Amino acid sequence: MQVGIEQCSVVVPTVGRPSLDVLLDALARAPGPRPAELVLVDDRPTGAPLRPERPGLPPVRVVRTGGGGPARARNLGWRSVRTEWVAFLDDDVVPDPDWYQQLAADLTALSPDVAGSQGRVRVPLPEDRRPTDWERGTAGLATSSWITADLAYRRAALAAVGGFDERFPRAFREDSDLALRVLDTGARLVRGQRWITHPVRPVDRWVSVRVQAGNADDVLMRRLHGPGWRERADAPLGRRPRHLAVTAAGLIAVGLAAARRPRAALAAAAAWAAGTGEFAWARIASGPRDRAEIATMLASSALIPPLATWHVLRGAVQHRRVRPWRGLPDLVLFDRDGTLVRDYPYNGDPALVKPVPGAREAVDALRARGVRVGVVSNQSGVARGLITRAQVDACMARLDELLGPFDTVQVCPHGPDDGCSCRKPAPGMVKAACAELDVDPARCVVIGDIGADVEAAAAAGAAGILVPTPVTRKAEVEAAPRRAATLPGAVEQVLAGEW
Ligand SMILES: [Mg+2]
Repeated sequence: MQVGIEQCSVVVPTVGRPSLDVLLDALARAPGPRPAELVLVDDRPTGAPLRPERPGLPPVRVVRTGGGGPARARNLGWRSVRTEWVAFLDDDVVPDPDWYQQLAADLTALSPDVAGSQGRVRVPLPEDRRPTDWERGTAGLATSSWITADLAYRRAALAAVGGFDERFPRAFREDSDLALRVLDTGARLVRGQRWITHPVRPVDRWVSVRVQAGNADDVLMRRLHGPGWRERADAPLGRRPRHLAVTAAGLIAVGLAAARRPRAALAAAAAWAAGTGEFAWARIASGPRDRAEIATMLASSALIPPLATWHVLRGAVQHRRVRPWRGLPDLVLFDRDGTLVRDYPYNGDPALVKPVPGAREAVDALRARGVRVGVVSNQSGVARGLITRAQVDACMARLDELLGPFDTVQVCPHGPDDGCSCRKPAPGMVKAACAELDVDPARCVVIGDIGADVEAAAAAGAAGILVPTPVTRKAEVEAAPRRAATLPGAVEQVLAGEW
């Protein structure tokens, strides 16, 4: 099937590095058909708005996370687009001039079981000297699997697995983790023919020490995907066993010295020195061997083994009870009366539409994370002849003024004896809302104040959270699969992935 590039959006998470301008210039200059839009996810906590506009770019939209790391930024980006495909580009790459054409070609004729297409990465290295340790490390990106420097995913595949796992705090392993979870669904990932250039970023001399924090993320990978994760993710173990051995030798030397066993301490210290020296030499031998690089390698080679060990231990503690990532739902549906607003039975007066405390902030918190929101409301007062449909609509309009905009509003005007399929606890309105927004009911949460709300959720295949009021029946409270004391509390649960 022909996939036009207009069925694709480009998502670029950024912290506003100068390299962003280089990327935007390249995207503006490149010929070829434009994707539906370019979404720039500004992940800076503060700062003046970014100015990405340039003639030649696809329609640009900027969304802000307020800061939350690359996984959360990418999640907000893909959640905010509606196209079939989402192409992630990092803000420090330069796409080839034919990138748009090749992207269109890469996405065309992919079978439905292909969930992602990876671009190809080249890392330019200096030609007049051997590459530094950092340059060699960056060059590894050229052969890495499923890195999001340039990777297009089907939006539905991202939604099905809850997107990127936000417990990965830095741009490391979060892309491999996503790929493994997508592959776990039975989908395939393929390599395309489009190319980007990934320049080596200028760094200070301690970068090799700082990146050791990634050892904690490796522990998280193992907890989530089991011992075979490295093979599946194409992530070699490297020197970690040797770092642990060198660190152990150093600690033993210190221990023996403290125990006044100088000879044994000296032997252990010699083992530490030999291991550290071998590590430093291995890094120096492949490099440019100038004074600055040699000094950096000597100092950092002494620091890296104990730091790597420390981060492994830190990760083991931090991630000891980690659960599979669920992510956010794609849609949260609220009951209206008694949940979003105070309950006046059969209310037909817009003046009596009064939000419960914290309702505005709670609904906005979902919107800020890219979760769509809607209303599912039984209004049997219409069938009972107590209020008119026009009054219901006027109250909904008032609700929209106070807490809107909502992505979907579903109303059932029928009575209990009408035999309709929409009146909760029937699943009709939940199903209709999901169908309208193209959301899998399994990725939808219904929040309501009575048993019928959570029963409708369950009948539709959605999750339910009950926020009881003083008039909620005790049996319904006890039967609810999930409960929260307040509406903001329920939304907090959802945002924490507990739904
Ligand atoms: Mg209610």
